[in-house]
Parts: sequence; C-alpha cells; structure tokens
Amino acid sequence: MGEKKNPAVKAWEMLRNALGLYRNSEYVNDFHNQANLQSASYMSMVMMVLELVMIIRYIKKYVIEEQICNTVGEFFHYTKNYWILMILAVITVIYAQMYLRGKIKINRRFSELWTVIFAGVCMYFGYEVSFTDYTKGRMFLCFMTMVIYVACLLIWRPIISIVMLSVIAVTFLEWVGNNAVSRETGELIGIDEGDRINYAIFFISLIMVAISIYHQRQREAKKSEAIEKAMVTDRLTGAPNMNRFYEWALHYIDKHPNTDVIYLYVNIANFRTYNNSFGYMRGNELISDVARSIAEAFPGEPYARQANDHFVVLTRVEGCRDRVEALRQRVISHTPDELYIDINVGGYRPKGEYNDPRLEMDRARYACSLLGNRPDEHFIEYDDTMNKNYLLRQYIINNIDKAVRDGYIKVYYQPVVWARDRKLCSCEALARWVDPERGMISPGDFIPVLEETGQISKLDKCICEIVCRDIRSRLDRGEAVVPTSVNFSRLDFGLMDPVEELERLTEKYDIPHRLLHVEITESALTDDPEALKKAMDDLHQKGYSLLLDDFGSGYSSLNVLKDYNFDVLKLDMVFLRDFEGNANSKKIIKSIIDLAESLGMKTLSEGVETLEAADYLEQAGCVRLQGYYYGKPMPLEEMYQMADEGKLSISDILT
Ligand code: C2E
Ligand code: CA
Ligand code: CA
Repeated sequence: MGEKKNPAVKAWEMLRNALGLYRNSEYVNDFHNQANLQSASYMSMVMMVLELVMIIRYIKKYVIEEQICNTVGEFFHYTKNYWILMILAVITVIYAQMYLRGKIKINRRFSELWTVIFAGVCMYFGYEVSFTDYTKGRMFLCFMTMVIYVACLLIWRPIISIVMLSVIAVTFLEWVGNNAVSRETGELIGIDEGDRINYAIFFISLIMVAISIYHQRQREAKKSEAIEKAMVTDRLTGAPNMNRFYEWALHYIDKHPNTDVIYLYVNIANFRTYNNSFGYMRGNELISDVARSIAEAFPGEPYARQANDHFVVLTRVEGCRDRVEALRQRVISHTPDELYIDINVGGYRPKGEYNDPRLEMDRARYACSLLGNRPDEHFIEYDDTMNKNYLLRQYIINNIDKAVRDGYIKVYYQPVVWARDRKLCSCEALARWVDPERGMISPGDFIPVLEETGQISKLDKCICEIVCRDIRSRLDRGEAVVPTSVNFSRLDFGLMDPVEELERLTEKYDIPHRLLHVEITESALTDDPEALKKAMDDLHQKGYSLLLDDFGSGYSSLNVLKDYNFDVLKLDMVFLRDFEGNANSKKIIKSIIDLAESLGMKTLSEGVETLEAADYLEQAGCVRLQGYYYGKPMPLEEMYQMADEGKLSISDILT
C-alpha cells in the first residue's frame, strides 16, 4: 500500500486503459452492445432514407426524364446496390429495436457478427461507387461517408477501432493509389501527396472520435453498473438484497423446470442477546459471516439478506437438509463458545405453476417463526396445519383496519371482586374480534400477530375508546360504574403515546381518571426502561392506577418491583394452576403477597376458578380476585345485569 509504482508499469497501465485492453464485466459488455445497437439503429435509419432518395433520384432521372431504363429487370439491375443496402438497414433497425426492447434474446456475439457483416457490405458498396466516381474525375466521397458510418457502427475497444480503421486507411491508399485509372485518359490517377495527408488526417480524427466515444460509454457503463449493483446489494454484507432475490429466484425456477425446489428462511437464533453482549460491531460481523456461510453452503443458488439477522435461500429439495446442517455447523464453529448461537431454518416447497416468491417466502418465514422456542429443532417445513394458522394470520394482518373501522372489535369485561366481601370492585377490558366471516377470533391469536407487525396500538386505541364510550353512556344514564382496567402492550410505548391517548379520550368523554386503570405486562419492563418509567410516572401523576400484569410469568420479577412504582401487583394464573396439590405454591403465593404489601402495593389474583382458591387467597392477604369463578369476560351489559340480578353486588368502595 502507498508503494510507488514503477514508471514502466504505470505507463503500460495507462496504455492498456487507453486501448481498452482489459476484461469488462458482462454488464459493461452488454452496455456497450446496447449502445452499439442503438447507434446502429439510428445510422440505419439514415441509411434507409438515403437509399430511398437514391432510388427516387434514379427513377426521376433514368426512368422518367431520360427513359434509359425501360424494363423492371433493368431497373432492379441498376438499383440493386441501393436495394441491398436498404434491406440490410431495415433488418438492422428491426433487429436492434427488438433486441433493445427485450423482445428477442440472442447472444451478444450475434449482434456483433451482424454489425460486422452489415459494415462490410456498406464498405464494399461505398468503395465500389466511389472508385467509379473517382475514375470519372469526381471526389472519393461515398466511401468516406461509409467509413464514418462503419466507425460509428463498430465502437468496440479502442484497439479494434485503431486496427480496423488503420487497415482500411492503408489498403485504401494503396489500392486506389495503385489502381485508379482515369476513364477519360486511361492514365493512372493515383492519389497525390497533399490528398494523402488529408486522408490520413481524416482517418486519425475518426479513430480519435471512436476512441473518445468508447471511453465515454465505458464511464457511463461503469457508473450505471455501480448504481445497479447498489440497488440489488445489501449494504452491510454485500450479499444480494431482496430485489435481487426475487429476480434471481424466478430466473432459477425458469432454468430448472423439473427440479423440486424449496424456499428457506434463515434466522440467527439468539442474535439479540449476542448483539447485546458483544455490541453492534460484533453483531454486524456475525451477520456478514452468516451471509458468507450461506453463499458457501448453497453455491450458485439464489440467496439474500432479508433484514436484520434474517436471510432467504432458494435451493433444490434434494440434499437440502445436508446443506442446512453444513450451514449450521459452519456458523456455530465461527462463533465464540461463551454464547449460544444457532441457525433456525423454515422451509416452504412451492406448489403449482407460478407463484410470487414474496408470498412463498413469507410461508417459509412463518414456519421459521414457529421454531422460536424449540431449542432442539432447527429445521421445520411449512405444512397443512400451519397453513390454517398462517391464513388466519394473513387475515388478521390484512383486516385489522377494517375490523377497527367497522366495529368488529368488541370489548368484553371481566369482573374483579374484593377478596374480603367478594363484591364487584372493578373489571378488566379484554379485546374480542367478532368477525362476520370467521366468527370469534381470540386475543391469543390476534394480539401476537398485531404485536409482531407493529399494529397493536391500533387495537389498544380502539379498546380505550370503546371503554371510555361505555363508561360515558352509563354515567349519562346515571348508572353505577366500576373502574375498568385496559391492557397496554409494551410495544404501545414505542408505537404511540399512551399518556396522550388516555388524556385525549378522558377529555373527549369526560371521564374521571380514577375510573381507568392501566395494566402493563411484566415483560414490557425489559425494553426501554427510561422511556417506560417516564410514561408510568406521567400516568401516575395524572391519577390513573397502574397494575403490573402477569407477575411471575417472566424472569425479571423481583427487579421490576425494585425499579418501578405500581399500585397493584397482579399474580399470574400460573400460581393457581397446581395450587391444590402443591404446598409450595401456597407458600410462594403468600410470600409474594407479603412482599408486595411491604413495598406498598395491593395484590390481585388472576385465574380464580374455585371457591377454595378464593378463600385461600383471601386468607393469605390478597386484596382482589379475578377469574371464571366470579365471571368470564362478557359484554358490558351482561356484567352489570349480573349485579342487578344479585349474582354480583357492586361494592360501595371502588378505589
Ligand atoms: P391477560 O391480560 O392476562 O388477561 C387475562 C386472560 O385470562 C384473559 O384471556 C381472560 O379471559 C383469562 N382468564 C380470566 N380468568 C380466567 C380463569 O379463571 N381461568 C382461565 N383459564 N383464564 C382466565 P383473554 O381475554 O383471552 O386475553 C388473553 C390475553 O390477551 C390477555 O391476557 C392480554 O395479555 C391480551 N389482551 C386481551 N385484550 C387486550 C387488549 O385490549 N390489549 C392488549 N394489549 N392485550 C390484550
Ligand atoms: Ca391484563
Ligand atoms: Ca394477566
């Protein structure tokens, strides 16, 4: 690096560049070929017009005025050169235009051969006409025109222009110089000294023009190649990107019509932790390394980086498992032992004639997503049972806006009672999707999909609005109202501003803040603690109660209690699952309740299904109870009807 080059080497390199003595990429060669065909097309149009004019001129002069030519045979005999050139020009225009518009796909060499043949014919006739003219005492013009024409037609490498035009120049000067005999006097005319110099200058200028056009095209070709490459290349890894993949995949399928193929979606398992532990740069290196490993494991087959740590591949079914396994081993062997990294692959075999690779790929991706929590499995193929879930998922993604707009999203309310007297003290708003086509879709199905696709805030805004509207209409009728808790997804704090949204709605419907509780699930608290803390402080300050949902279902439970300020801790229903037979469960429940109390939090138990559970929880000091024993989630009116019918009585104390 930085080493000075030998002047001789430098000079040779400059010369090589000037003469075009280097290999061009396929792209650049195609670019030159297209540019040549484009100019061939223009020049041939000129040629067509010229020959037409010549034919008309012939008819006017020799057929009409002088009446020398009287038969059709004679006419074609004397005008045959014009016709030949015209027909070749027409063929060239048609061929060039069809080629440039992609209507015909012929090897580049054929275009080159054709232009050479056409050029040769032009030169021949140009020479013939000019030679005759010259011997009659006229100038040597037609040939010169043809030389310009041919030079423009065959702008290949500078070296070719130089050799070709020099050979033409020398043979021309020699041939005409030695053979041109005056028709009038029979003496050798030759070419005189002054004209020789002029002809030489003409040829040299022409060579320079051809070289300069070549270099200009070369620069353009390189620039356009770079742009095009950037458009189909992934910036980080240099691997192909998805644009390229779709094109490549279609081409691959076209080329292998009788091969069973499979789309693979490749995901680096545990990448997030790797990134967090080793930093961004190392994460990027890992991604680039996986890209290289994929290229090695699937040589010559379409692949691309889709996004983040996800890749896609299209490969033959035969031996596919082995190649996936080879990829896994390669990646595992390249990563440090301290951390678990693996490769998960979802596969989808396209069915039927032609399908959009985007949709096929999405199925492979879906299959791969199902591997997420199965550490012992690393390859899964899309099958019919998945298909049902996949279609539901697509339906959800495509219809959430419509569902919100057309009122398919409903709120069901589940009662919450005081443990001490089992009177209704609040309720939880739970989303339901009652679809006219598919019936009831459960939140377990649509919430994860909406979270994954970043659409969960649409649902949560809608639920908050319905809850506020429901409360307002009961208040307007002077009916009793209990506080309602709404669930916010952890993603809501990034997708929208939950504080602002609640403020907007409580103002719009004029709802006292104490009537709304906010549930945030425990797993939310690992993402962006500062932003979330701020949002929670704001909510608190504005008078909304905060409930820590699903406590005990994740890992970070105790830290969460230390760092955040909740009013109510909701014990996850896992604690009650084997409550009867497991003495430890009772102890754990009791300790959590005590711990919460000592930190100034009230407790609520979810999933209370039996009187025994309720009694134990009451005795252990749990403050509120929620579960099927007191009521499943139900429409608003139904819940209050239970109160009216005496199945539930509304407590006087509602805070
Ligand atoms: P979650 O917030 O923990 O809600 C409690 C879930 O437990 C509800 O399921 C409820 O029907 C169920 N459940 C209540 N009592 C019992 C019981 O005694 N036994 C049993 N086995 N289950 C009981 P659901 O309505 O299917 O909701 C599931 C989850 O979906 C919710 O869990 C919540 O995480 C989410 N979700 C529901 N609605 C919304 C919403 O509007 N926004 C957001 N972001 N998430 C929601
Ligand atoms: Ca909840
Ligand atoms: Ca819960």
